[in-house]
Amino acid sequence: MPAADFNMNEIHWLMDMFNTVDIGLVVLDRDYKVCIWNGFMENHSGMLPSAVKDKDLFDLFPSIDEKWFRSKSESVFILKNRSFTIWEQQPYIFRFKNYRPITGKADHMYQNATFIPLSNTMGEVGHICIIIYDVTDVAVNKKELEEVNRKLEQVSQTDALTQLANRGHWENTLRQEFLRIKRSGGCSTLLMFDIDHFKKVNDEYGHRCGDEALRNIADLLRKTLRETDIAGRYGGEEFAVTLLDTDRQGAEIFAERLRSLIENSSIYFDKQQIKLTISIGFACFQERFERHEKWIEAADKALYFSKENGRNCITAYQDLNIS
Ligand code: GH3
Ligand code: MG
Ligand code: MG
Repeated sequence: MPAADFNMNEIHWLMDMFNTVDIGLVVLDRDYKVCIWNGFMENHSGMLPSAVKDKDLFDLFPSIDEKWFRSKSESVFILKNRSFTIWEQQPYIFRFKNYRPITGKADHMYQNATFIPLSNTMGEVGHICIIIYDVTDVAVNKKELEEVNRKLEQVSQTDALTQLANRGHWENTLRQEFLRIKRSGGCSTLLMFDIDHFKKVNDEYGHRCGDEALRNIADLLRKTLRETDIAGRYGGEEFAVTLLDTDRQGAEIFAERLRSLIENSSIYFDKQQIKLTISIGFACFQERFERHEKWIEAADKALYFSKENGRNCITAYQDLNIS
């Protein structure tokens, strides 16, 4: 076989492969005019090579961030180095629709890209090649995984019955606030409350009614909260609220609003009206608390005093005269 025929065959094969391969191949000249455009690019853009040949890339694709693309390419032209982009920095270069059945949730194709310098026989770089990889499957899977992890984290921090923070998460946030105040100063107040004679609700109306009552109390609590307050279910029918940047006076107003709201609300279960009250204790942050647990103990002591003092009332830890 003559050598020329052999080379013609190879070129033919190369052209076939070039047009069939499942990656995008684009060659641009120094003025960002398209020189080469393979089958992948044609299929996804709907533009024939003849339609894009010698056209300005930014006219063809106005959605490309021209400034970014030029600075990326210039370094390839000048430094003769390869350059890469990944979907996490730039989701795509060419906005193509995503047709993949499995990852149909993405409306566009996510792309990684490699920019390579193309030199002539003199070693001068007058063109660059851009290789486009469709990474939609990887991107969508990663995003879904992140979303699932985010939901899992949320579930692990939430009390299933009341949708308030669970004890572990609430205590973490209190610890953070405790450390912040120790470092930077300020005043925050920890408030705890416990439903009065709650055992009777379970005994008289059943456990399901007790659960419904707990959900109701949590809803009433949510109504009184500000955005910065962090409320949690501390135990069975015991709740805790960290009131950020709140002094004694502010805490008293909050506590009284919550106490009277619950006293004046009714819970209905199986057409029966149930009235509940709560006992509250609160403790403003004090420098002498060495650990956040001491802060909890202080609020708990104040709550215990409210219970001893007839229930349905509020006690401030400062008033207990405990040193
Ligand atoms: P006190 O006024 O002294 O607080 O009386 P109490 O009856 O509320 O207090 P006690 O600690 O004796 O009882 C709390 C009750 O709360 C006991 C338990 O059955 C009930 N309880 C705790 N967690 C749940 C829950 O998740 N659902 C239901 N339905 N009841 C719960
Ligand atoms: Mg109770
Ligand atoms: Mg209790």
